[in-house]
Amino acid sequence: MNNYITVIGGGLAGAEAAYQIAKRGIKVKLYEMKPKKFSPAHTNKNLAEIVCSNSFKSNLLTNACGLLKQELRMLDSLLINIADKTKVPAGQALAVDRDQFAKQVTEQIEKDPNIQIINQEVENIEQLAKDGIVIVATGPLTSESLAKNISNLTGQDKLYFYDAAAPIVTKESIDFDIAFYGDRYSQEKKKEETIEQWQERQKNEEKSYINLPMNKEEYETFWHELVNAQVVELHQFEKKEIFEGCMPIEVMAKRGIDTLRFGPLKPVGFDDPRTGKRPYAVVQLRQDNKQASLYNLVGFQTNLKFGEQKRVFSLIPGLQEADFIKYGVMHRNTYINSTILLDATYNLKQNNNIFFAGQITGVEGYVESISSGLVAGLNAVLKYQSKSPIVFSKYTMIGALAQYISTENKKFQPMNANFGILPDLEIKIKDKKLRYENLAQRALNNITDLLH
Ligand SMILES: Cc1cc2nc3c(=O)[nH]c(=O)nc-3n(C[C@H](O)[C@H](O)[C@H](O)COP(=O)(O)OP(=O)(O)OC[C@H]3O[C@@H](n4cnc5c(N)ncnc54)[C@H](O)[C@@H]3O)c2cc1C
Repeated sequence: MNNYITVIGGGLAGAEAAYQIAKRGIKVKLYEMKPKKFSPAHTNKNLAEIVCSNSFKSNLLTNACGLLKQELRMLDSLLINIADKTKVPAGQALAVDRDQFAKQVTEQIEKDPNIQIINQEVENIEQLAKDGIVIVATGPLTSESLAKNISNLTGQDKLYFYDAAAPIVTKESIDFDIAFYGDRYSQEKKKEETIEQWQERQKNEEKSYINLPMNKEEYETFWHELVNAQVVELHQFEKKEIFEGCMPIEVMAKRGIDTLRFGPLKPVGFDDPRTGKRPYAVVQLRQDNKQASLYNLVGFQTNLKFGEQKRVFSLIPGLQEADFIKYGVMHRNTYINSTILLDATYNLKQNNNIFFAGQITGVEGYVESISSGLVAGLNAVLKYQSKSPIVFSKYTMIGALAQYISTENKKFQPMNANFGILPDLEIKIKDKKLRYENLAQRALNNITDLLH
């Protein structure tokens, strides 16, 4: 038996798993194919690279992802800890400076005496698992040769769905005669305020979001160009499904002229400071780096050709001269059928030396991937020490996710943290916020009990 545990993939799940193993005094060999080889979405040589939005979603406990983050904080997650340290203003959400985040995770892993980073693509898992424990955390864009190997190993066809990233623009290229700062709802003029008081309050608001108001005519022109714009041709295998949680904006727009106005462009919670009236639609831009020099277009994940993105998105008032430093992209996303392959510790049933972690298991999202890395890392250690596994309670978000992906389900789709996967409370509470507060408290009590 090897005197170390192997982790394949130094993304969000792999970096978290490596940390959890190393902090328990066990050696780790962490294989990461970058910088020798990059997936179509990765561009940075650091570990824990964030490929799309810089948001780790809400910090509120009445939000499922907020609860999951709080559980991870209690369980000493390295990545959530660094996300907290590298956060940028984003209202109630935890958004990070992506470069600082990846840099600090990499520094922490590199200086850990128990972790050896090997920059090499792995093509065969069984070879590494012959004499030791292996965690596979190669993500939704697992390299082709390894994906084939996983397919052979599990006897399953790979599953694919679309995933897409939103474009990023520089702040200095945005027209601030049109754009205004502010969070949804805090931006609305209060009845008792004069226009001057309201404008003064806005000046002091946190500058986490930039808003671009549109009138009816501007919106309709934009919508028309968007639904008729040219998209990148997808491969046949990529055409299987569109994942509702990450739908390209042009696909959403094609569902009807007002769909975007009820979705990412909803004007609710804003008044246009120029008119004092609610706009017809609003495009929001979220701060993307600590210096607040870059902003991403919220909800604008897209598969439009790059030239078309420039042409169509520049029609948005305020973005006429926008400098797009990154265009939106769309990619294959690979995950295994965990519902029959894994148990609730992310251990492969047919070969107990192998664990999977991250998006490849069918958990969906940054925080969810980190949570599975923590569970797999912890349980790989217990296996290494020939101790019993820890199955997190179904009443916790971290446990409910693990149980969801490892429970038989013929319609398995990647799953975000959500309150629907937690068991009901014993008493019925109608008020949603109060119900979520109670579910969150029950989950956190459970983690507290586990830690004592
Ligand atoms: C285009 C795109 C956009 C996304 N946008 C979002 C978003 O906005 N918000 C969100 O919450 N989630 C998003 N996701 C989903 C998902 O949460 C992230 O992909 C997340 O990074 C998954 O973490 P992971 O650790 O599983 O994989 P990754 O973070 O991708 O890490 C996998 C690592 O494994 C390495 N690797 C791959 N193959 C091999 C190999 N054979 N040998 C060695 N190393 C290998 C890769 O280089 C990479 O560093 C997106 C996914 C994609 C593909």
